[in-house]
Amino acid sequence: MVPTVRIELLTTGTELMLGTTQNTHGAWIGQRLFSLGLRVERQITVPDGQAVIEAMKTGLEAGDVLIVTGGLGPTSDDLTREALAEVLGLEMIEDEAALRAIEEFFASRGRVMVPANRKQAMAPVGADILANPNGTAPGLHVPPRMSGERNCAVFLLPGPPRELYPMFDEEVVPRLEALAGIEQPPEMVELKFVGIGESDFHQGIDEQLAAVAGLEHGYCARLGEVDLRLMGTPEAIGNGRRIAEAAFARELVSDDGAILEEVVVRLLKEQGVSLAIAESCTGGLIATRITDVPGASEVFRYGFVTYANEAKRDLLDVSWDDLLEHGAVSEPVAGQMAEGALRVGEADLAVSVTGIAGPTGGTEAKPVGTVFLGLAVKGGKTEVVKQFHPWGRDAFKRQVSQAALNLVRRALGDGGAEGSRRSKV
Ligand code: ATP
Repeated sequence: MVPTVRIELLTTGTELMLGTTQNTHGAWIGQRLFSLGLRVERQITVPDGQAVIEAMKTGLEAGDVLIVTGGLGPTSDDLTREALAEVLGLEMIEDEAALRAIEEFFASRGRVMVPANRKQAMAPVGADILANPNGTAPGLHVPPRMSGERNCAVFLLPGPPRELYPMFDEEVVPRLEALAGIEQPPEMVELKFVGIGESDFHQGIDEQLAAVAGLEHGYCARLGEVDLRLMGTPEAIGNGRRIAEAAFARELVSDDGAILEEVVVRLLKEQGVSLAIAESCTGGLIATRITDVPGASEVFRYGFVTYANEAKRDLLDVSWDDLLEHGAVSEPVAGQMAEGALRVGEADLAVSVTGIAGPTGGTEAKPVGTVFLGLAVKGGKTEVVKQFHPWGRDAFKRQVSQAALNLVRRALGDGGAEGSRRSKV
């Protein structure tokens, strides 16, 4: 394991306090650090102004590393640089190379640099300037020795994500690795499960995982899905993995960070299987998720959004009599939608969904949250499953799309655990 380094994260910006900008830096930086075996001990968010100075003092006292984001711009409320110089009592000078880089940034875009941008080239004497090819504000690294007895390294980074992310990867990560003595990232595996919740792990598996020597485990749960993180020695990870797989082999989607739609597209490609989708209550979400995956065009043929009964009849050839007799949300309709999509879409495999998202439209026999999912396979028997997801419209759509993609994955032979691929198509 790597040495422990206490990292404090200070995200600045009045917009973060007003809620007009969602503070995503914490999550992004947290994940990056985690992959290095490091973690944020504490995150503080403050508005622009005096609060930055107070928070910096706190972070410098407590941390071995203080990462500050935002406030490096040219406007009068961008004062992070000045705040750090004040807190540490450092003299600021104009850095010639930084000024040239800012001038070149403007010149390369045919724009004139205004005097306000000049202050972005100011840096404490002895600090490293961190290049920003995607914006005007260079970042700063103040090494631990410059913070006196606090012995804390400081990184000042720009607020805009498209400037922050590359700077973090190129300039901050190597310095952190050197600082923390990281020679190689820690062993870690993330297993993604779909179709189970966090509570399923507490039916005994959690205790078994906790008993594995040298294993650290943790969960990230969303509705109907769980990511299980295993860290430790390769042997401990292997033991943890075996415990989780023994309980949930069929629910295991990936062990390499791939999300469900990526696994589905990968399996379709590997097996040369084409897909069509017929959606009602998800309104195109399943097709959206499939087409979010680069290269989906190799395997995805048609997506039908047949919301009205007439659309189901006219586009997918669903029987009008069945629609009237059983209703749009029914087993025969789901099956015929899948078969219609398969036929019209000239695909090898088709999935369909028809359900009641709510809040209105439910009946005693078919309450809000009821959904039927169909799966049709070329030359095979059509399957229909009924599920119930009564957690509100958004969650319903997400869970139904998840269930549909999972049906496809299972038809293609799971794909999660190595060696468990049993294609049924
Ligand atoms: P600029 O030169 O654009 O002023 P800056 O380094 O001064 O850059 P800020 O002014 O603090 O950074 O933020 C610029 C923009 O970056 C914000 O309007 C917001 O869109 C985004 N941003 C800042 N902080 C965060 C954060 N914590 N999470 C997500 N986005 C953020």
